[in-house]
Amino acid sequence: MPDTLRAAIRDVVDFPEPGIIFKDITPILGDAALFRRAIDLLCEATGGTQIDKVAGIDARGFIFASAVADRLGTGFVPIRKKGKLPWKTRQRAYALEYGEAVVELHEDAVKPGEKVLLVDDLLATGGTAAAAAALLEELGADLTGISFLIELSFLNGRTKLGPRPIHSILNY
Ligand code: AMP
Repeated sequence: MPDTLRAAIRDVVDFPEPGIIFKDITPILGDAALFRRAIDLLCEATGGTQIDKVAGIDARGFIFASAVADRLGTGFVPIRKKGKLPWKTRQRAYALEYGEAVVELHEDAVKPGEKVLLVDDLLATGGTAAAAAALLEELGADLTGISFLIELSFLNGRTKLGPRPIHSILNY
């Protein structure tokens, strides 16, 4: 079944800029059976670990993380791009190929000791997930793992995530 998910992902060449092959997951989202299967596999990847909250990364991460949270019966925590969250935030900057980006988290989003699963659609260089994980840990979260639907292993993003447990459903 991961094969049918893999077959549904559309490679879009030179988007959003030349040289990038964008993994378009909208064909999975638009198919009820494939979307459910993606959520099934992300939930199975937790190995039954008890989780209090699922955190998702702006914006495609929200889609998967909120569905996983609903399925696991947990709360959902949004980690957003700079300037989108209305309450008091913690911020982390991380390097992009050109310049930097900032992710934010509400400072009351997680209580110390809460078990949090972090979910995003895709692991590329790892900068985004590393910044998100660091923010959660700064608030005292016990990060049980980081799960991705897609991992671009040739970019070695895992090395930025250290010893944290990483799961990905589809590897490229
Ligand atoms: P990175 O910080 O390099 O690991 O980039 C991960 C973030 O960028 C994820 O939130 C992805 O949604 C997005 N991203 C990076 N590369 C791609 C790609 N080739 N196709 C789709 N999304 C990507």
